[in-house]
This record gives sequence, structure tokens and C-alpha cells, in this order.
Amino acid sequence: MPEGHTIHRLARDQRRSLAGRPVRASSPQGRFAEGAARLDGAVLRRVEAWGKHLFQTYATGDVLHVHLGLIGVFRPQPSPPAPPVGLLRLRLEGGALTWDLSGPNVCAVIDPDAKAAVIARLGPDPLRPDSDPERFVQRVRRSKAPIGTLLLDQSVIAGIGNVYRAEMLWVFGIHPAREGPSISEDELRAMWRWIVDQLKVGVRRNRIVTIDPAQLGKPISRVRRGEGVAIYHQELCLRCGASIARLDVANRRIDVCLSCQT
Ligand SMILES: [Zn+2]
Repeated sequence: MPEGHTIHRLARDQRRSLAGRPVRASSPQGRFAEGAARLDGAVLRRVEAWGKHLFQTYATGDVLHVHLGLIGVFRPQPSPPAPPVGLLRLRLEGGALTWDLSGPNVCAVIDPDAKAAVIARLGPDPLRPDSDPERFVQRVRRSKAPIGTLLLDQSVIAGIGNVYRAEMLWVFGIHPAREGPSISEDELRAMWRWIVDQLKVGVRRNRIVTIDPAQLGKPISRVRRGEGVAIYHQELCLRCGASIARLDVANRRIDVCLSCQT
């Protein structure tokens, strides 16, 4: 599932390639024909991300709300685009790039009030400068739920998924079953600062790389998929060499080093 860095990167790329001009919207698959017809021809004013949610605001006041879910993809191609292939829910044409959306969990035209309601249900997003880290700290400290569950709860912190969750808990030596109040405020603030930095790297590289490429002995462009992370889907702990255990927390598998994460 795409994590927050993917959505913020999408917002940035769509801002640059689509915003400020009228957009041609169509639904090649037909399932979003009404919504596409409503957006067609409107000027795209703003594109922004909040956690895993993408919002495009048009001059008409309409807002396109997209959540990619598990299998959704929003893919660019040079304009003019090739004829649609597969089940394309939405195609947006305007600038140098055409954006094709397939398989989203949510694709809807909403109004600004509905957008505000979506955002009100979300916790602070580490990639948004207006986010208050204390909201994250206090939510975790007040909860008896395991930290491994809280980090995936989008109302606690928005944008974290399975990969960043595993990496963050390993970096801080925290077992995913530990309850919120057992983690100090200072630790939680340090975790927030770490994830802010990591997500920024993720946006820049458009992928998750949590370990220093110098440690891998090759440039980032040659780091293969799955190689840039310390613990997620790895076999041995980078720090102590122990075998990595697979636990189930919040119904999602998490990789843990049982000697480093206590
Ligand atoms: Zn270890």
C-alpha cells in the first residue's frame, strides 16, 4: 500500500504538471463518468496531500478526493497520451503529463465541507508543516493500544504504513506490542522528528530508503527494491545479526528483532 510519501510526491508532481490550467477529465472505464464530466474543463487550482488522501481543488469549488487503497495507482505519461489500456477510472489531461488513475479505494467529487470532514478524522501528517506533533504524542500516551497498532491508525498519525512502521520501531528499539503510556514523551517526539525526515527523503526519492546508501556501498540509483530498508522483509538484524521475527500486529505482519526491540 502506498504510504504518505507517495501521495505527497503525487501532489507535488500534479501541482507542477496539471495545476493552473483547465483540465480535461474523462473516465475511460465509465465508472466515474459523472464525476469526470463535472470536472471536465475546470481549472485546477490546488493539489494537496493529507496522509494517504489526495485532494485536487478546482476553480469551480469542486474537490476531487482520491485514496489509492491497497492497489490503486495514479500514473503519469507524456501528453498526448496513448489510448487507454485496462480499467482506467479517471484520466486527467492538461499539461505536459497525462495522469491515469486505476483501482482507487476512493475517487469522488466532494465539496470543501466534505473535504474538511475527511481531514478532521485524520491525525497530524508529519509531512505537513502545519501539523502539531503534540497531538501525536498525547494520543499515543493516552491509549492502551500497542504502539504497532497506533502507528497504523490514521487518526493518530496520518501517512504511516507497514514499511515505515517496522523501520521506525526498529530504529528506536521498541517492541510493537508496547502500550502507548510506556513510551516517553521525549521518545515520541524523537520518533516524530525521525519520521518527518524519513518521509521527506521518501518524497524526494519517490521510494522508501531508510538506511544510508553509503552503508550499502552503492549509489541510490542501483539500490534494488527492498534493499534500502533495515528490517522490513529482511532476514537478519542489521544491528545484532539475529534472525528477524514476524509478528502480527493490527492484522498486518510486522518484522521485529526480538533482541533489539524490547
Ligand atoms: Zn537486532
